[in-house]
Amino acid sequence: EKVEFIEYFSHVIDRFEMNRDEKNTFNRELSAQNLFVWIDKDKITQVLDNIISNAIKYSPEGGTITFKAETLKKQLLVSVSDQGMGMPSDTVDKIFDRFYRVDKARSREMGGTGLGLAIAREIIESHHGQIWANSQEGKGTTVFFTLPLINQKRRKHK
Ligand code: ATP
Ligand code: MG
Repeated sequence: EKVEFIEYFSHVIDRFEMNRDEKNTFNRELSAQNLFVWIDKDKITQVLDNIISNAIKYSPEGGTITFKAETLKKQLLVSVSDQGMGMPSDTVDKIFDRFYRVDKARSREMGGTGLGLAIAREIIESHHGQIWANSQEGKGTTVFFTLPLINQKRRKHK
């Protein structure tokens, strides 16, 4: 289905912002231009739900969660950054593996199965995009993904 990503992403963020913990501040840096993508909306919503709930879940001390959506080399680049506990840099690629959790004891208290990001990777790759993360222990984590943009044909002026 053809979707204008900025409006759709805003609605997803709104839903989390309405239910958010008071100590988290939401910061949006979204493209002013319409960005069209061809996506399975339910599946991309599943990806965003997991990334955003991770940002909230692993930010016990609150802080700001920053949402970005912009164009990069004819692709849509989306990112969600938190100022949470982060993780060691050598584990950041493993979080996309099935059942991988950075700190087993800590994660058990948090609930979940460790499947969220593995499913997210499958979904993003099936949309011909890529997903990755940057993290610094004690500083925070950013999860990025790309999706191909639909080429916008410019309307001819008469
Ligand atoms: P599920 O998503 O299945 O409910 P989960 O959140 O533990 O469980 P994933 O979403 O796949 O599983 O994340 C895998 C692991 O990566 C988490 O257990 C956590 O250790 C780490 N992680 C993911 N996102 C963050 C984040 N924003 N900050 C710190 N650690 C994170
Ligand atoms: Mg998760």
